[in-house]
Amino acid sequence: MDFAFSNSFHASMEGFYAPAVAARPSAPALLAFNHALAKRLGVVVGKATDQLLGHFLSGLELPEGANPLAFAYAGHQFGQFSSQLGDGRALLLGEIIAPGGARFDIQLKGSGPTAFSRNGDGKAAIGPVLREYLVSEAMAAMEVPTTRSLAAVATGDQVQRERTHPGAVLTRVASSHIRVGTFQFFAAHFGADHVIRLSNYTIRRHFPELVEAANPHLALLDRVIGLQCELVARWMGVGFIHGVMNTDNVAVSGETLDYGPCAFMDRFAVNTVFSSIDANGRYAYGRQPQITHWNMARYAEAMLPAIHAVNPADVDAAKALVDAIPARFRAIWLDEMRAKLGLGQPHKADEPLIDSLFGELEQHAVDFTSFFRALAQLLRGDGDMLQALLPDAEAMAPWIADWWAQLEREAIAPLERADAMDAVNPLYIPRNHLVEAALVAAEAGDMAPWTELLQVVQNPYVERAEWAAFAQPAPVDADPYKTFCGT
Ligand code: AMP
Ligand code: MG
Repeated sequence: MDFAFSNSFHASMEGFYAPAVAARPSAPALLAFNHALAKRLGVVVGKATDQLLGHFLSGLELPEGANPLAFAYAGHQFGQFSSQLGDGRALLLGEIIAPGGARFDIQLKGSGPTAFSRNGDGKAAIGPVLREYLVSEAMAAMEVPTTRSLAAVATGDQVQRERTHPGAVLTRVASSHIRVGTFQFFAAHFGADHVIRLSNYTIRRHFPELVEAANPHLALLDRVIGLQCELVARWMGVGFIHGVMNTDNVAVSGETLDYGPCAFMDRFAVNTVFSSIDANGRYAYGRQPQITHWNMARYAEAMLPAIHAVNPADVDAAKALVDAIPARFRAIWLDEMRAKLGLGQPHKADEPLIDSLFGELEQHAVDFTSFFRALAQLLRGDGDMLQALLPDAEAMAPWIADWWAQLEREAIAPLERADAMDAVNPLYIPRNHLVEAALVAAEAGDMAPWTELLQVVQNPYVERAEWAAFAQPAPVDADPYKTFCGT
């Protein structure tokens, strides 16, 4: 297998990482390989057998040109600042340039301890690895910006968590692993020079057009804020709950990063939280926009030395950018919701309609994903799906009437509108009960349910009769779903 690595970080960013060596897995075995992604990235598989892929993508053998290293970073975890985190269970194999010219990091996650592991073992268990693979690929299929998954390899070793689990390594692909916490690390330990270097590197790598800005660091802050608002609006639109929105898990590229205890909401409840470690609901569904505001304020703080160095007066501009986040987010989120509801051009009457939807969904415990598909069915003259989601025929009737009235402002044929809605509202998401069943089977050695679920969530929009069960909400009497970190 050939990655044709083209590494840039280690040469220009000395001091921002530590060299790393992967642990030797005792019996690597390929669990999954993303051939479509490999092709898009220009990664040449050639005649490599699954066995050989397993060797390269577990850390047993180093592919040609790899230069493994672990990044340093800090971060606010549940609001508390930790000045020393860093990749404790991940190592960058190297960077590649895909056929379109875009640069990507290829990282192994769960490949053993690094200089930043503190007391951790540097390993990952098979369940969280396969969860990240599945959910990140589902997100990509829904066009939510995200890191991707190239492979999952069982190591043949046991990993000790609350009990022992089979170990595994995930090959993660990201447009970079530069986090808000990366900036925080250098702001906290070294000050302006290092922040400027990292900012310049980030601009060259992700946003070269900003080099010409009067204050490129301020322009970077503006861009990162915009991307985070867009990302979280997409999360809200698909009912995704990240679960650990610590600043070390926020990628400045605007990609969803670090899938841990994440999950999708079933029945709508704004305070939904699945993570067992989030007792206070800091990262609940409805809090994700506020947390983004908070995280971007921390990012602005880390960027201030660089912004100030170019022009001290721009510190006020940075503050204004942060203060504007709630309004900026809301505008993007309203667009997201308009598309989901089949509303066309913005109109003042659609804001109260959108705002009042969530109380209705919560009151009637409506399955969030199915609801938007049911609205499209209604446009096709079929009210059965909606009725099945609601407790009685009158539930939500006034809201539905109001929605219908809003639609009539624009002369778009109902069928055309229904198709447009179905193209943005997924029918198949990684539903918690399905993910759980697939992971339990995989841990017991049966990959078939996981492989089938992956195929379903990679095709989220077009209904298929044989996949009917995958669109069903969890049984009403299912236990409350809990997710655990321990990737
Ligand atoms: P996370 O909550 O997954 O974002 O991880 C927070 C920090 O802990 C990151 O620096 C991780 O690299 C590190 N970490 C998490 N699990 C482990 C582990 N098993 N071994 C070493 N470091 C870990
Ligand atoms: Mg993390």
